[in-house]
This record gives sequence, C-alpha cells and structure tokens, in this order.
Amino acid sequence: MILRALGLALALLVGGAQAQDEDIAEAIERARHLSVTEAVPASQPAIDALMERLDEATPGQRAEIRLLHIRNLALRGENSEAIDRLESLLASSLSDDQRLRAFRLAANVGINMGQYEWGFKRLQAALELLPHTDIPAEEVPILTLAGFVHSMVGNHERAIRYSKQALEIAERTENIRRRCTAGQALAVAFRYAEQFERAQAAATAALENCRRANDQVYLGVVELELAYVALEHGELDTAERWINQGLERLRKAVWVDGVLTGEHLKARLAAARGQHEAAIELAEPLIERVRERQFWEREAALHRLVASQVAEMGAFAEAYEHMVAHSEARERFLDEDRNRRLAILEVEFDVQRQEQELELLREQKRVAELEAQSRRQQARMRWLAAGFALILFLILLLLLIHVLRERRHYRRLSELDGLTRVSNHTRFFDTARMLVEESHRRGQPLVLALGDIDHFKQVNDEHGHMTGDKALRQVARVLCTNFPGLGHVGRIGGEEFAICVPDSQLEPVLGQLEQVRKDLAEIQYGGNGKPLTMSFGVAELVAGEALENLRKRADEALYEAKSRGRNTVVVADKKGAD
Ligand code: GH3
Ligand code: MG
Ligand code: MG
Repeated sequence: MILRALGLALALLVGGAQAQDEDIAEAIERARHLSVTEAVPASQPAIDALMERLDEATPGQRAEIRLLHIRNLALRGENSEAIDRLESLLASSLSDDQRLRAFRLAANVGINMGQYEWGFKRLQAALELLPHTDIPAEEVPILTLAGFVHSMVGNHERAIRYSKQALEIAERTENIRRRCTAGQALAVAFRYAEQFERAQAAATAALENCRRANDQVYLGVVELELAYVALEHGELDTAERWINQGLERLRKAVWVDGVLTGEHLKARLAAARGQHEAAIELAEPLIERVRERQFWEREAALHRLVASQVAEMGAFAEAYEHMVAHSEARERFLDEDRNRRLAILEVEFDVQRQEQELELLREQKRVAELEAQSRRQQARMRWLAAGFALILFLILLLLLIHVLRERRHYRRLSELDGLTRVSNHTRFFDTARMLVEESHRRGQPLVLALGDIDHFKQVNDEHGHMTGDKALRQVARVLCTNFPGLGHVGRIGGEEFAICVPDSQLEPVLGQLEQVRKDLAEIQYGGNGKPLTMSFGVAELVAGEALENLRKRADEALYEAKSRGRNTVVVADKKGAD
C-alpha cells in the first residue's frame, strides 16, 4: 500500500517535471488530444497547466488554450462562465479557424443554456464565415449544429438537409470522427422528424464510424440513439442492450447530459416492460436533476411517466400531482420552445435583411461596374474613332503625296523626249528663254549650239529604224556627258539637238564640241565602220538679243556647216544679232 502510494507520488512528480519541460506547442497538442479522446477529468489538469503558462504562449496559442479551457467549462456545465469567456475571446484577434471554432462552441453553449438568440446568432455568423474560409474540418461540425438547431425548432426538412450536407462533406474528407458526429446528427434529425427507420440506419452507420474514431462520448450518444429507436419499435431487449452500453460509456466519459438521457431511457424501458416500481424509482430522482438543468421538456416527460406508473399502481392522488407538475413543466417548455422559435425567426429575419442589404449592395456594385464598363467602352470607341480618323488622314496624305508624285512624274515625262530622255523641244526652249533672260539681267554670257546628225537618213535606210533610234540615244548621252552641270541639252527635232550653256564664253563651248565630235566618232551603231558625225551651228548671246534671234543665228550657222560639207562647227556671226 505504502509502496503504491510512493509509486503514485513518484509518477506525479515525474509527470509534473515532464509537463514543465514540455514545449508549449506539444502541451497544447496533448491537451487537445486528451480533450477529444478522454473525459473532462482526464484533460482538465493538462488544460489547467496550460492556463498557468499563458504568458509563454504566442497569441495564436493563447487562443487555442482558451478554446480548450472554455470547451471544458461548457462540458462541466459552467455555461455562464463559458459564455463570458467566449465573448471576450471572440472580441480578440483570432485566425479564421479559431474564430469558426469559437463561434461553434458559443452556439453550442448558448443553445445549451437557453440563450437561443445569442447562440443562433453565433451559429449564423459561423455559417456566414464558412464560405469565405477554406477550413474543411469546420464545415461538418457547423453544418451538423445547424441541422440540430433546425431539428429543435421543428424545421425538420432543413435540419435533414443540413445534416445530410454535413455527412456528405465528412464522407468526402474521409475524417472518421466527422463521419461519426455528422451521422449522429443525421440520426437525430430523422428521429425528430419521426422517420425512425432512417434514424436507425443513420445511427447504425454512425456507430461504426464512432467506433473506428474511438470517440467515447459520441459512441455513447449514438448507442442511446439506437435505444430510442428500439424503444419506438417496441424492441425492448435491444433497447436495453443499447441503453446499458451507452450509459456505461457516458458515465465513464462524465458527460452529465448524456447520462441523464440514458437514465431517462432506462425509466422509459422499465415502464414499457410494466415494471412500475422500477420505472418510478428510476424516474423520480431524475426529475430534480433535469429541473436543475432546466430541461423542461424532460421534466414534463418524467412527470408524465411517473404519473402513469403511479396511476397503474392505484395512487391516483400522487398521479394527479405529477400531472399538475407535468403541466407546469410543459408550460415552461412551451415558453422556452416559443423563445427558441422566436429567436431563430429573429436571426433568420436579420439574415434575410442582411441578405437583402447585401443584394442591394451587390446590385449597386454591379451598376457601378456596368457604368465603369460603358465608360471604358466609350473611351475605347473614342480612341478607335480617333485612330480611325488618323489612319484615314494618313491614307489621304499618302494618296495626295502619291498623286503629286505621279503628277510630277507625268509632267516630267511630258517635258522629256521619250527616246533620248533629254528635254523635248518645248521644255528646251522654255528653259533657254529663262536662261537668256537671266543672262541679260546679270550681264553674263550665254552660248547656244544647234547640232544636226549628218546623213542620218542613210543610217535608217541602211541599218533600220531601231539602229537609228539607238544612235540617237547614244548621241544624246555623248552631249549630256560633255555638257554636264548647267549645260542644258534638248532634242528639238528628229535628229536635231540643241545645247544652251549659260555663264560661258564661246571658247570653252567650242572645246567641248570638239570633244563631242571625237566621242561621236567612237559610236558603233551599225558596225560598218562609218563614224557618226554631226554639224553644229554656234551662236553667242549678244546684249539685249532675243532668244528667237539667237536661235536664228545658230540655225544659219548650222546651215553653213552643212553647206561646208558637214562634220564641222560654224560660229555665227554677231552681226546678225544687231
Ligand atoms: P543631212 O546631213 O542633210 O542632215 O542629211 P539627213 O539624212 O540627216 O537629213 P534628212 O532631213 O534628209 O533626214 C533626216 C532623217 O532623220 C529622216 C528620218 O528618217 C530620220 N529621223 C528623224 N527622226 C527619227 C527618229 O526618231 N528615229 C529614226 N530612226 N530616224 C529618225
Ligand atoms: Mg535634219
Ligand atoms: Mg541630218
């Protein structure tokens, strides 16, 4: 005995030392694990130890510890304390995950202690937060709770819908514990809706999952759920087996409400078996306990049970008293039920109003977006129109430039001789007139030379017109080469060329013409060895002389050159200019 006590003390000491050294994150994890798998007394010391170490914890860890602490407070039935602590926890900064869990815990506690509106509002807040977070682990318990709340207020269809949704998600996430709890909730929803077959099927499926999850509280609760259904079906032995199993489990897990439910079922079973005394003995002590916890519906049900049993035994006065107490408890229950229904209506009304406001906001946002979009479109259209106008303008500009170029090109073409590309008759004399006038104005000299190819007819006759044409082009090239720059060359007749040289005396021109004659001799036009020759008449501009006269004198000189036997240059006499 002493040894055992010593061993225990030692174990405690070692355990204590371990707890001190333990990393706070690990300690939280261990406490969380205990609080899920073990009863309140088993997890409480770990949580209490953590509450002592709040200073060491990060804000996130502090919230975690507080959540564990509040959960245990609620499980121990210290609901007011739990609510106060939840209020301040929810006012602090939490992660989405912690906030969801705090809302859920708050909803549970609020509903448990009859503060329905407070609880429903927290549940609604959780349901609203849920879609904005990605915390699959919280989806199932929140939907499960929503299902339970709707069961309580008689919205069975919605209760079943929420519970089914929870179970579907749980099955997808493959979390066994969530499957267990969601399955239990669905069983309850079916039982409240008096669909006992479905309730049984859901509870049976849940039982398996709860067993695999090793959740003692839920396992016990589901066993009691199966007991309910068996009782409804009159399967009393089955009911008894489930009640015993469930009760034992819930007692071990120290879940007071669950134990009360189990004992109540036990009393109902005894009554169903006609064991009046046993039923009364079981039911009577429960009345005080459920009243303490303000479970009015249960109190009413227990009074009615006792009343029926004592009546069976002939104690009608006592039965009457219980029926009166039943009525009173029922009255209280109905009050509470009304409160619950009003509370949920209140919350739903709020939700609807919020949704309407949200819809309005969304609508306004949509309108604003549409306006912005149309503004953007208008701006785009304006840009497009401006761009289009610019492109049109550029096209027109290019077209204009093109047309002007073409015009210039054709004008130039019209001024050039098509065969030799030197100025034609009109252009040559127009330019010569301008140069003559300019020479007079500036008192500068100017020389005009007219040239005619000798015996050109023979070239054509002997070698053909094509050769003649080629010879004409070659002559033009020779003239242009020898009179570059200001020297102006033109084709003024069939095989007649003219050269106007401004700012020049006669001598240089004669020198250049000599070079022309030499170059002409080189031209191979027909291959018969006969050189191409030209006769030139040259006239120097005399002060005040008109172009016509200058040309006449040059022409006469050319004629003279032809007369002298061709292939020569004759300079016009200045006399003719006077
Ligand atoms: P002359 O020495 O007296 O000037 O003798 P010519 O044969 O050169 O003179 P004429 O006036 O008798 O002949 C001019 C010839 O020039 C007639 C024509 O066949 C030729 N001719 C005129 N224009 C062209 C042309 O564009 N191409 C060709 N191939 N021949 C042309
Ligand atoms: Mg001629
Ligand atoms: Mg000729």
